[in-house]
Amino acid sequence: QDLLKWYGWGYQDSKFQLVNEKATFTGDRYLIGGKHLPHLLDFAKEKFDLDLTQPPKIPALPTTFPPSILPESQRKELESIADVSTEGLDRLMRSHGQTLHEVSNLRNGTMPRIPDAVVWPENHDQVEQIVRCASTHKLVIIPFGGGTSVSGSISCPERETRAIVALDTSAMNSILWLDKEQLLARVQAGIVGQDLEREMRTRGFTVGHEPDSYEFSTLGGWVATRASGMKKNTYGNIEDLVVQTKVAVVRYGSLVFPDWEAGVRFEREVARERLQPSSIRLLDNEQFRFGHALKTEQSWGGVLLDGLKRLYITKIKRFDPERLCVVTLLMEGSVEQVADRESQLNKIAACFGGVPGGATNGEVGYTLTFTSVPWERTLALCRNTKRRLRDECRARNISHYLISCRLTQTYDAGCCIYFYFGFNSQGLADPVREYELIEEAARDEIIASGGSISHHHGVGKLRKKWYTQAVSELGRRLLVAAKTTLDPDNIFALNNMVLEQPGPGEGAAGVARSKL
Ligand SMILES: Cc1cc2nc3c(=O)[nH]c(=O)nc-3n(C[C@H](O)[C@H](O)[C@H](O)COP(=O)(O)OP(=O)(O)OC[C@H]3O[C@@H](n4cnc5c(N)ncnc54)[C@H](O)[C@@H]3O)c2cc1C
Repeated sequence: QDLLKWYGWGYQDSKFQLVNEKATFTGDRYLIGGKHLPHLLDFAKEKFDLDLTQPPKIPALPTTFPPSILPESQRKELESIADVSTEGLDRLMRSHGQTLHEVSNLRNGTMPRIPDAVVWPENHDQVEQIVRCASTHKLVIIPFGGGTSVSGSISCPERETRAIVALDTSAMNSILWLDKEQLLARVQAGIVGQDLEREMRTRGFTVGHEPDSYEFSTLGGWVATRASGMKKNTYGNIEDLVVQTKVAVVRYGSLVFPDWEAGVRFEREVARERLQPSSIRLLDNEQFRFGHALKTEQSWGGVLLDGLKRLYITKIKRFDPERLCVVTLLMEGSVEQVADRESQLNKIAACFGGVPGGATNGEVGYTLTFTSVPWERTLALCRNTKRRLRDECRARNISHYLISCRLTQTYDAGCCIYFYFGFNSQGLADPVREYELIEEAARDEIIASGGSISHHHGVGKLRKKWYTQAVSELGRRLLVAAKTTLDPDNIFALNNMVLEQPGPGEGAAGVARSKL
């Protein structure tokens, strides 16, 4: 907590800064740390009409917090089990995930409800005792891992009248045992991704699960949200993840394609042949240029190593710099396996007009939403969603924006697409509300175009509107039945998914007892 920003994402020592009127990034945690970013100011001006030479608005640390409604006697009872805090900042920092709405509430001091206490169990027995205590005293528990949720799943239900306890799993961060023969490990739920991976590596193993948030997200959070990591092609998503032995070689690479359509056709063929390397991502042209804005040298796009390469791609291959797109690759295995895979991928790329592009591009951005979609609908879905976003901007007189997408995971039947969206909100009375309306419109369009409501971030509160449509009323009621059986007192009343509305034939008791 001491290392992190209280008002948003990331470490306190990591931020963009102007030094001698040049954009730089502070700290030494990341590759761009301490480096000059010569393209960033121009990019921000062109895309968002933003003047980054103006100092950013950093909110002042709040001095007052909503009072805790946890009765003193119950606090004492919890304290007899594990560490407890009712300090305002501890509670505020565990009241939100990372959606725009939540971060905006945090920065503006408008968080509608925060937990009444935070409790830090160290083991399973203590968790059981806390749940028992909550059951006896009618408390609500919200498990809190890394707080990186992007579905609103950890925000406190506004109208909850019972005291809410955030069960912070960060003290449950040990590897309990590792069976090197069976390649199995038992690990406590609160371990943070980067710590788990580091610890496994010291033992000669890897977890292989690396969601982009793995600096902060936890094992328990991954399981609860069915997370998907960038190396899923080798190690699987969290639900089918197995421990593997240490790899001999890791190599990054990239391929450049004349346009998005060619890139998607390439990805589809690679999936059909089941030749995906550990990670394979397709970046559209906007994303490629955004990556360029975060490059530290005066290179062209970073992935295209030098002037000669640029010349080859634009003059000889005649790729249009305004349309080309890039596939980034991460290959793991023995030296021979990696070389073999690279050559197979290069051959397939050539069939779709692609050429090798050299070292990997940066992976930065901010997500609007993502979806999984069958292959045959992929191109239309991307086109429709981008068009819908542009229309929504036009209807609101938003003239500076970035709309971009990235294809991140591939399967036999389809793929996962992330959409990225940012805009200059100047002149809008309620930018967060407008963003949410635009996001909703984009999601409607995604579903109408054959996409799903979620690939790996869960449903939470953000996507609950579409849940019944996706799983049917019968599916929803099955989930309600499971929830009420497992949690009859509705202690885990996070109010996620569509479980608070009664289905046909459900009585009032069903309403009260069906929140998840
Ligand atoms: C910049 C960024 C990049 C991201 N990249 C990815 C990505 O590549 N892949 C991906 O899948 N997701 C990604 N996410 C989303 C998020 O990181 C995942 O959903 C992650 O699994 C959440 O883990 P967490 O520990 O932060 O959980 P939290 O945000 O703390 O909690 C999420 C949900 O899990 C529940 N929960 C947490 N711990 C437990 C537990 N021990 N027992 C029961 N329930 C629990 C919470 O109550 C809540 O409902 C990203 C998010 C951000 C902000």
